[in-house]
Amino acid sequence: MAKKNLLEDIGIDCLLSNLPLNRYEEHQAPSKKLVSSPAVVTSNRESSSLSEGLRDLKITLANFEGSSLKKTAINMVFSDGNPDAKVMVVGEAPGADEDRQGKPFVGQSGQLLRRILSFIGLTIDHVYITNVLPYRPPGNRQPTPQEIQMFLPFLQKHIALIKPKCLLLVGGTACKALLEGQDGITKIRGTWIDLVVPGLDHPVKAMATYHPAYLLRSPLRKKDVWKDMLMVKKFLRTIQ
Ligand code: URA
Repeated sequence: MAKKNLLEDIGIDCLLSNLPLNRYEEHQAPSKKLVSSPAVVTSNRESSSLSEGLRDLKITLANFEGSSLKKTAINMVFSDGNPDAKVMVVGEAPGADEDRQGKPFVGQSGQLLRRILSFIGLTIDHVYITNVLPYRPPGNRQPTPQEIQMFLPFLQKHIALIKPKCLLLVGGTACKALLEGQDGITKIRGTWIDLVVPGLDHPVKAMATYHPAYLLRSPLRKKDVWKDMLMVKKFLRTIQ
């Protein structure tokens, strides 16, 4: 009786269940379901040849001595996420946090990227993430056109291995690298571009959108990114 009064004192007037509900887990549940959804992850491919291919590419990249970026970086940043994902995200280059941890998008803009992805029900398990450059440019400077060109064949090989159904190009550098000759990001974002990638039989649907680091500086542009992400969501519904 005393217990009932205590509950009433704190404003609880009825009990729905004898067991406590973990609302946080409940919130996570839809994402878990999406992991096995055929709409976002490819389940029927040769996973051993894919992991061998990725391992070989990582070794080749690690042994590549053509760029001085390797000398100033702490770690090479190769990728994160699910190699079976249908969505491949391409960013610019590692920042300080990524350089320290050896993983892409783990810093502040990475947190925003994760929130953007979660807006359409995707987690890191539903996407595969890499960057144009595998090493942090000193002082977080912009990658030079020469650096972009130098690492482009590695990026193209990476895309050809993952065979994504959809490429999400975040920021101007990813667009410059892969969509050479197209207009700038402000014009092309929000439109699907059929991207021809060496080593792939079919063009990949590519969507350019603003980089999360830019959104942190210009939050008003978030509404454009939400629109772009809704287009990605719609596209994912149309593929098997
Ligand atoms: N910005 C990028 O473009 N990539 C990262 O990995 C981190 C920040």
